[in-house]
Amino acid sequence: MANKYLKRFNLKKFKALFRNKKLLVVFMALLTTLVISSATYALVNNNTEPEVVEVSEPTEQQEEPEVESEEEPPETPAPVELEPTPKPEPEPVSPWPVTFSLDQASSLTVVVNKKHKLPSNYVPSLTGVAGGQMRPEAASALNTMLQAAQNDGVPMKIISSYRSYPTQVSTYNKWVRIDGQAQADRSSARPGHSEHQTGLAVDLGVPNGNCDLLICFGSTAQGQWLATYAQKYGFIVRYESNTEAITGYQYEPWHMRYLGVSTATAVKNSGQTLDQYYGVEAGGY
Ligand SMILES: [Zn+2]
Repeated sequence: MANKYLKRFNLKKFKALFRNKKLLVVFMALLTTLVISSATYALVNNNTEPEVVEVSEPTEQQEEPEVESEEEPPETPAPVELEPTPKPEPEPVSPWPVTFSLDQASSLTVVVNKKHKLPSNYVPSLTGVAGGQMRPEAASALNTMLQAAQNDGVPMKIISSYRSYPTQVSTYNKWVRIDGQAQADRSSARPGHSEHQTGLAVDLGVPNGNCDLLICFGSTAQGQWLATYAQKYGFIVRYESNTEAITGYQYEPWHMRYLGVSTATAVKNSGQTLDQYYGVEAGGY
């Protein structure tokens, strides 16, 4: 039965093919076209494959930039590491100088030195003295003292009393220009560090100007008188000889600091500097 069916089928097909040769030709033409098309498609696919590979390569190249971008971040923090490298920054670690509050600055016993400074905007209440200004308490005591010295035959003049912060800027800069900063720091305070800004300090001298602001003033009658009696009027010689390591300033026998009679007498009798007497950190900047 199966053979019969195949024979019938092949026969019919065979006959049909021969019955219409034109259809066979067309069929064969279509078949050929199909084969060629398939072959072409296969070739195109083969050609496309490398393209796909090529496409994948750029993908890899895109990944490479990602690797590069991963390398870039380490480069970014590098300059950040360089910024904190400069060594000047550790300086702020130092607690000095301490700047007083306005209330602290106005204390009659405030200890201003190279480690403790006044606010730049601190201006005390002032009253006039010969050729300058001082706080009323200090001005009154100074007038009394100068009168007593006059009576003892050692008249004195006021060289400098209150100096504002801006004035101290000029004063300090002047001495830096003249002597250089190292020497200027031994005798002239940097702005904010001067007792003259408190209105409680005064520089005195011999009327004829002999030894003005010089160590030799300590040997004059005026200098000797102040070293002996100043505390009786509420003043001390703020920067004594041989105390530079403590006060930060060289001997200034002309520089008087008002503290009030009781405190000035106590400091004088203690043999200490004002900084030591109050246990206040002093010395250099
Ligand atoms: Zn002075």
